[in-house]
Amino acid sequence: MITITPGNDRHQALRIRRFFIGAASYAMWFILILYCHHLEFIRLSFGWILFAFGIIIGINAFLYLIFRTGLNKKFTDPSLTFTQMVIAALTAMMGIYYTDNIRGIMLVAYIVTILFGVFRFNIIQYFIFTIFSVTCYGTVIILLLNNHPDTITLQVEILQLVVFATVLTWFSMVGSYMRKIREKLSATNYRLNNALNTIRELAIHDDLTRAYNRRQMYEELKKEKAKADRSGGIFSIALFDLDHFKKINDTYGHLKGDDVLKYLIHSISHEIREIDSISRYGGEEFVIIMNGTDAKGAEECAFRIKSRIENLKFPGFADSFRITISTGITTYHPVESIDELIARSDSAMYKAKSMGRNQVVIENHV
Ligand code: GH3
Ligand code: MG
Ligand code: MG
Repeated sequence: MITITPGNDRHQALRIRRFFIGAASYAMWFILILYCHHLEFIRLSFGWILFAFGIIIGINAFLYLIFRTGLNKKFTDPSLTFTQMVIAALTAMMGIYYTDNIRGIMLVAYIVTILFGVFRFNIIQYFIFTIFSVTCYGTVIILLLNNHPDTITLQVEILQLVVFATVLTWFSMVGSYMRKIREKLSATNYRLNNALNTIRELAIHDDLTRAYNRRQMYEELKKEKAKADRSGGIFSIALFDLDHFKKINDTYGHLKGDDVLKYLIHSISHEIREIDSISRYGGEEFVIIMNGTDAKGAEECAFRIKSRIENLKFPGFADSFRITISTGITTYHPVESIDELIARSDSAMYKAKSMGRNQVVIENHV
């Protein structure tokens, strides 16, 4: 579908929206000039006015094309603010040149052009634009002195030029100050967003192992259950508990026990698919939720993890140091409760323990 602004690029969409605001101010100029023509304050025929605005529409269509094709991204300022402001300034100056004794009031409309730079320009860019504008107006006065001396009172024009330069300088200062505020705001925004992301991460993960915490495990299970109840999908869970973990704490100390847990979960996170999740159910018990997986698929995954763990060497421990796990697997039966599902996998896990540990047991009878 062809759209006016690209939906997939937020920055480009913003630039194009800003471009349209600029284009709308040409429409405002057009109306003002037509009104001046109606009052006979302008030395241009209706045909020439139409011709001039035809050119302006052409230039703007060209600019739009540059934005829409993404060519603007090749420039240091992809918003093309300066270019757009220079075009607008030249257009306004042309209008001012052709209006006779109401030039002063037309200069007020010129302020619209400089407002366009608010938020974008720094103080130097603003001053450059101010000097450019004052030079343009100076040129208009010189051209008028040469071509239409009868329409001009030099003293009044010089006064207008001074007022114009002062107002623009003032705008430059306020404008660049506004840009600074905007930058500060966006920096604060950025920091806030980062903080929010960190808080979100902390709220759903277990501090020690970085697996999901128990609350998030229930959230994930609720999501899977809803999906399965709605569309008849399947999912399985594997609940595993470390074998004789107490002995590890007793032998090496609790902190070393922590290291074992951390390293173990880190190592098996590569064994599960991106769409699956691992959560800390409590203590040294973990639950893997396997999306779209039946009992057979879950069993394969559990055996893969089991063999990965029984061969895993732990940094800081003797080469012969090994850990094993006992795993209970079950598949979700539509409409049963999450607690029923977990209880079944728990009972399977206890069977694995009673069978001598380091076993995988499937239990699917309700
Ligand atoms: P079994 O094979 O029957 O599961 O034996 P076990 O010793 O692993 O079982 P038990 O449930 O009796 O002990 C679990 C131990 O896990 C007790 C507890 O101190 C320890 N544990 C639980 N959470 C943590 C933890 O975060 N860090 C450490 N280091 N130990 C923990
Ligand atoms: Mg245990
Ligand atoms: Mg336990």
